Amino acid sequence: MILDILKYGDPRLEQKADPVADINGQLKELVENMFETMYAAQGIGLAATQVGVLKRLFIMDCSGGKDPEDRYVFINPRIITTEGEVVGEEGCLSLPGIYLKVARPQRIVAAALDMEGREFTVEVTDLAARCVAHEIDHLDGQLMLNRVSPIKRDFAQRKIRKLVKAGQW
Ligand SMILES: [Zn+2]
Repeated sequence: MILDILKYGDPRLEQKADPVADINGQLKELVENMFETMYAAQGIGLAATQVGVLKRLFIMDCSGGKDPEDRYVFINPRIITTEGEVVGEEGCLSLPGIYLKVARPQRIVAAALDMEGREFTVEVTDLAARCVAHEIDHLDGQLMLNRVSPIKRDFAQRKIRKLVKAGQW
């Protein structure tokens, strides 16, 4: 089932998500639906927060569904180490049409639980590192708008206000 993706302006996007306490059937269904939703929207990452579920969980697939090995579920993720910094253009399914240059770590080592409740550690670089940092931000109620200068933020917010007025948001 394709879920509705919350757009910027919805207060839930700015709330901190709670840890997942139980990996049950309901959570498995949510994850399946999130993958379907993310692929339909042509995204590479999606946080539960973005579909209105304030739980610390996100999915990622930098291959866009082409490589099953790139399909990740991160439950209760935490960043262990980060290294370097890369400024790159970033988009967000909750901010459609908005692209901002955001600084993110070049390399991240993160740990999380998988769908079986087992802890795993993964090292990600470049695009995947950008994605992990972006999605963990969502779980903390942070949007990429908070990661750019006030001038760039104002510019993006003005563009969004115009889209809202035009009924296109
Ligand atoms: Zn996003």
